Amino acid sequence: MNTALKSHFLRLWQKRGLEGLALLRAVLAPDTGLKVAVSSSFGAESAVLLDLVAQVDAATPVLTVDTGKLFDETVAYRERLVDHFGLSDVRVLQPSDTLVASADPDGLLHQDDPDACCQVRKVMPHAAAAADFDVLITGRKRFHGGARGALAPVHKEGLHLKVNPLASWGEIDIETAFVDRALPRHPLVAADYRSIGCAVCTFKTGDGDGVRAGRWAGKDKTECGLHMTAHEPRHLNTQETGQ
Ligand code: SF4
Repeated sequence: MNTALKSHFLRLWQKRGLEGLALLRAVLAPDTGLKVAVSSSFGAESAVLLDLVAQVDAATPVLTVDTGKLFDETVAYRERLVDHFGLSDVRVLQPSDTLVASADPDGLLHQDDPDACCQVRKVMPHAAAAADFDVLITGRKRFHGGARGALAPVHKEGLHLKVNPLASWGEIDIETAFVDRALPRHPLVAADYRSIGCAVCTFKTGDGDGVRAGRWAGKDKTECGLHMTAHEPRHLNTQETGQ
């Protein structure tokens, strides 16, 4: 990975102040020399970002993690969106069978140590695939609150440039995009799921709840760790990893 090249584009994109489709056109321009991928959960709002990406280049690599704990509806929705947008390079990442067997033999690690579970099932397979890229595009938005409340459209995070074309978009912007572009909805949105991750850690939200209130509800956890600057991947001990 070319550090000087990434620094150049970080400054350039920040200076231009682009967002949304204009930012994606700049980032996905074929002459940057950067390797770019999208990170997507195929969750409640994912169609909006994937629609914009597909308008620029439907062959852009899309990284998505199948933790083994997803809703069946999410797996079906992923297939529907791949077909709808003509996405030709969706990479479904899976955790190591060996690591899962060692760290989560009964499949209940999410109850006792959700950070460790996310590390094994999400962060590690995602990090391994992301290492091949210079730039990761995400669908994070400031209105989701918490650590996302100060999210910039472009920033450096570890070895990657992170590009968040929807950083400033609000709920109305997202809904407008769904209507104007006739985007397929995740089937669980109609059942009051507003942010959708693993089935065992995702709950319905009520009136007045934040959009991510149903994620790890009742636990002191708000992020899976894929995109946290201040959260270095946790190193599991040898007993947990079996290594
Ligand atoms: S969201 Fe829950 S089940 Fe999924 S990886 Fe994280 S802790 Fe495990």
